[in-house]
Amino acid sequence: MWLKITNNYSPNFTLPKRRKSKIKFIILHYTGMKNESSAIKRLCSQKTNVSAHYFVKKNGDIINLVPDSYEAWHAGKSKWKNTISLNKSSIGIEIHNEGHEHKYKNFTPKQLKSLKKLLRKLIEKYKINLNNILGHSDIAPERKKDPGEKFPWEELAKSNLVKWHKINHHTLKNLRLKKLDKKQEIIFIKNLNIYGYKKIEKLNYDKSKKLIVKAFQRHFRQSLINGKSDYECFMIIKNLLKPY
Ligand SMILES: [Zn+2]
Repeated sequence: MWLKITNNYSPNFTLPKRRKSKIKFIILHYTGMKNESSAIKRLCSQKTNVSAHYFVKKNGDIINLVPDSYEAWHAGKSKWKNTISLNKSSIGIEIHNEGHEHKYKNFTPKQLKSLKKLLRKLIEKYKINLNNILGHSDIAPERKKDPGEKFPWEELAKSNLVKWHKINHHTLKNLRLKKLDKKQEIIFIKNLNIYGYKKIEKLNYDKSKKLIVKAFQRHFRQSLINGKSDYECFMIIKNLLKPY
């Protein structure tokens, strides 16, 4: 499988090197900027303190900004299950896309083709568990929306590159907006947390809950992002927790 990667190193990484066995996660991002070359410049500027390991251009070209063996600065304050600050244990991939602030568009077929090859390579090299391939919004739901609801998780799952549920669309459609009773609501929230999402903030409960549910929906129920729990979401998370 042909995968061409060029180098354009960023100074924004942590010394010393990390061990290969430390790498357990792959975090996917969009750049959220209008201009591709400005996005690359930003990730390579000493002033910004941000970076990622890889950058996937709209034309499918991949640039390596930080070698895998160093921690890049892409995740910020983040949590998944019991892991906090995921920079230390992850590889970050920035996929160029204007993002929600600039007329959020579809990712390009060339980007997805390249991304699939890159993911395949990284999964094999670091023996990454597919449960640990996540979006930035999954690990920082109160701050981040990327890579967003246009990111084709389901398509990548068909190539066995990410985790997906096993309920068909037709079944799910009939469950949409069906209200949960109190008990189901508690189970739903608990299951989100068991799956990996951070706990809802007690002090700002409603707002925090809405953002965490939205992050879940941006990943697993992309056609309706309303931040409200319903029976469709309830069944999806339940199915995701089943061991296969
Ligand atoms: Zn991000």
